[in-house]
Amino acid sequence: MNLPKYTRFQYGHDESRIFLDDAHVIGILDHPREDSEVRVTFCGPSGTRFAMPAVEDITGGVSSIITASLHYDYRAHEIAIGYVSARGYGVCCPTCHTAGTVLSRFYDCPFEAQERAVADHEDLCGQPAVVVAKPVSRGPDRPPPNAWPTEDPDRS
Ligand SMILES: [Zn+2]
Repeated sequence: MNLPKYTRFQYGHDESRIFLDDAHVIGILDHPREDSEVRVTFCGPSGTRFAMPAVEDITGGVSSIITASLHYDYRAHEIAIGYVSARGYGVCCPTCHTAGTVLSRFYDCPFEAQERAVADHEDLCGQPAVVVAKPVSRGPDRPPPNAWPTEDPDRS
C-alpha cells in the first residue's frame, strides 16, 4: 500500500500551501505574523476552495486540511486542447468548468497549446492535468464537514 505524501510549502512569511503527492494543492494556510490565528482554505479535487474554521497554529491547519482531504479522491483533470476562440487556442477542462475556474490563457497555435496547457492548467487551478481526446468532468466537490465555499478573492 502506498501511503499518501503530504508536503507543506511556505511562500514568504504569510502563506503555506499543502500538497498531496507533490502534485495536488489540497489546502492553503494564511498565517500573517501579526495574527494570532491561522486561516484555513481547503482545495477539493476539482479546484473548488472552501473556507474552514480558523485554527491556532500551522500544525492545526495542516491536520484539518489533511483530515478533510481523506474524504476525496484526487486525480489529474482530463483536458483537451484546440478549441479556437477570438483570443487564440484555448484549453478545455470540464472539471474546472464545473468548479467555476476560468482557464484564461490562450495560445497562438496548437503546438504552443500542447506544450504549455498542462503547466498553465496547474498554475491556474492547482491540480495536475492529462491531455485526452474527450475529457470528462469529474464533477463539483461537495464541501467537507465544517466548510463552506469561498468567493473571497484574498483566498483564491
Ligand atoms: Zn481542470
